[in-house]
Amino acid sequence: VANESKKKIHRLTQEVVNKISAGEVIQRPSNALKELLENCLDAKSTTITVTVKDGGMKFLQIQDNGTGIRLEDMGIVCERFTTSKLTKFEDLRSIQSFGFRGEALSSISHVSHLKILTKTADSSCAYRACYLNGKLTPASPNEQSSDPKPCAGVNGTQITVEDLFFNTPSRKNVLKNTIDEHSRIALLMKKYAINNPTVSFILKKQGDPTPEVHTSGGQNSLEKDVIGSLYGTDLSKELKIISIDPNSNISKDGNDIGNTTPSSTLSRLDFTMKGFFSSTNYNAKKINFILFINGRLVDSKNLKTGLEQVYGKYLPKGTHPFIFIRLLVPPKNIDVNIHPTKSEVKILHEEQIIEFIQQKVDQELSISSNSKTFSTQV
Ligand code: ADP
Ligand code: MG
Repeated sequence: VANESKKKIHRLTQEVVNKISAGEVIQRPSNALKELLENCLDAKSTTITVTVKDGGMKFLQIQDNGTGIRLEDMGIVCERFTTSKLTKFEDLRSIQSFGFRGEALSSISHVSHLKILTKTADSSCAYRACYLNGKLTPASPNEQSSDPKPCAGVNGTQITVEDLFFNTPSRKNVLKNTIDEHSRIALLMKKYAINNPTVSFILKKQGDPTPEVHTSGGQNSLEKDVIGSLYGTDLSKELKIISIDPNSNISKDGNDIGNTTPSSTLSRLDFTMKGFFSSTNYNAKKINFILFINGRLVDSKNLKTGLEQVYGKYLPKGTHPFIFIRLLVPPKNIDVNIHPTKSEVKILHEEQIIEFIQQKVDQELSISSNSKTFSTQV
């Protein structure tokens, strides 16, 4: 022990650095799936099929019909910080895609056996390759080469993740509850399905022919339809669609709409919101709160509790609403350069934005709860 303090400082090898950071990015199967789903959406897919076994620990496969990965990119696609989405640091300000760090595939390949089968539209065949620790690896010990091999396949990409955390037994041990991991995966799929109504999302348990989640997608599909197909018409017929655009109201009427907020504050409130809120006629045992800011699935404890407070005035004690919110803020007002697993985001003027949403939702709920009493009185 006396020697400990005298130990020389040395540089960690790239291999060790990559392993450590992979463990930070991918902490459980649903983290991996979130990254893979976002890659499919970035690749403009319209159908995404996920197959899992043992909560994604044994087997997690995701098939899309997107752009595919070019053969010449397959060699580096799983290396750390390789991406087709970001070049200059300044691009971060205007980035539209979900990914930009080029860390997801690399991280997953450090903690699992990863396979890619992919075909671009202009290629005459598909290619498959296996990866380990960011690099191409032979498919089996008897195979000589690790080069991508031509094979049959449809346009799009299929990524297979097997034996997640096989090389980090301590992590594997904490994730013994595969039922819990599976429900995280199902919930994640539902959230993305609602936010992307025109994309078809399918979740299957391996060996089970009937999908657990199945949304139809299609050009004319709306959020409300998806919510109905996932949670039933009891909820979808009680949904209020609330849109907020503080600045459009100022310009149209020449004055502000919030009676307590001065217009100088309003004009600083650069955001628009579209939300689907259950009415006062609906309540559930658990809150369902889904928030996407600029297309990213995020958490906001403050907005969630702020809205629970509003509903608390109308719902029976111990019951909760369904809330799906899509918030758009100018990219410069939100810090996206945060760690991939940190889902809490920082927005400029958060307090005022939350207050504004609370007021609007309160207004809408009070209208419907008044009309409810009215109609029962008559
Ligand atoms: P990032 O998304 O941050 O770029 P990833 O490690 O998630 O990093 O992916 C690396 C690259 O692999 C992406 O930039 C993209 O070019 C390609 N890629 C990954 N998944 C897909 C997919 N499903 N379809 C097409 N290309 C993909
Ligand atoms: Mg990505």
